[in-house]
Amino acid sequence: MRRFLTVLCLASLSLAGSALHAQEQVINLYSARHYPTDEALYADFTKATGIKINRVDSDDAGIVTRLKAEGSASPADVILLVDAARLWKGEVDGLFLPVRSKVLETAVPPQLHAKPKDDGGIAWFGLSTRARVVVYDKLKVNRQDVDTYEKLAEPVNKGRLCVRSGSHPYNLSLFGAMTEHLGPAPTEIWLKGLVTNMARAPQGGDTDQIKAVASGECAVALTNTYYLARLMRSSNPAEKAVADRVGVVFPNQQSWGTHVNVAGGAVARYAKNAPNAVKFLEYLVSPAAQNHFANGNNEWPVVKGLKLDNPALQAMTGGSFKSELVPISAVGMNQVKVQQMLDRVGFK
Ligand code: FE
Repeated sequence: MRRFLTVLCLASLSLAGSALHAQEQVINLYSARHYPTDEALYADFTKATGIKINRVDSDDAGIVTRLKAEGSASPADVILLVDAARLWKGEVDGLFLPVRSKVLETAVPPQLHAKPKDDGGIAWFGLSTRARVVVYDKLKVNRQDVDTYEKLAEPVNKGRLCVRSGSHPYNLSLFGAMTEHLGPAPTEIWLKGLVTNMARAPQGGDTDQIKAVASGECAVALTNTYYLARLMRSSNPAEKAVADRVGVVFPNQQSWGTHVNVAGGAVARYAKNAPNAVKFLEYLVSPAAQNHFANGNNEWPVVKGLKLDNPALQAMTGGSFKSELVPISAVGMNQVKVQQMLDRVGFK
């Protein structure tokens, strides 16, 4: 009997031990990154640290709704979102736990993370960037007519422009940046010019705009770079042909630089595994993870000085380009103002 009790005790001890162990070595990740190549990234983290990742995939809105509904009972430790305006909103809604990390503060340039709180804590960090560029029909359009965002609103481009909904976060962020560069009143005039120049009402996603240029429905469009890179690297000949037909311009290289948006991460407000959550974010700025963003999903690293090993990104830029330096948090903050402007100028 005594022997039996001992065995029982040992068994329950080891159960408790393994429960404790499991608790320490897990993070719960809520991710709006829906890129299949990210699987390898998560697997490498677990291999390197022993920390298991439980992942909940949803879109940005779904994650935010879930976090709000769960409140302080939320099991979320880390949150990954794919737009500056959404990250900014998550911060304002109190969904994040500001953290201090030498590694993150050194790796991520100041314009690509949240504004530090009074105690130095930072609510979210950009982890990869995507540029919002112009694609154009090489047969119909002179490159110099579309080499700035401002020119897209000029009469020369009348009836040429295809663009997704103005209210989509990628456009809200671009227009929010324009508001920083030009001021609100000139930005509203510019937006009105874009509406005047549209070849069709806003519809579809970025890839649809590129395809519409290739098919001749429009001659100029706005897209995030990774959508174009995907077509360039596609093994489908029809998609490659689309990419071949269009030219690409990184706008405003002679002035403030091309608009970049971020995908980023934060520690959840009620994280139960906050130290491991920070460890995961720190892993995402390591050279290996940053290369993964560039090669797997055709994004640009936030960390400077990494050699890009991505033929599509190389071909687009010749290796590098000038990106704007407005704080991405200010861009997020402008989104309400921008939406009001869009409503006034009839930009759907
Ligand atoms: Fe996207």
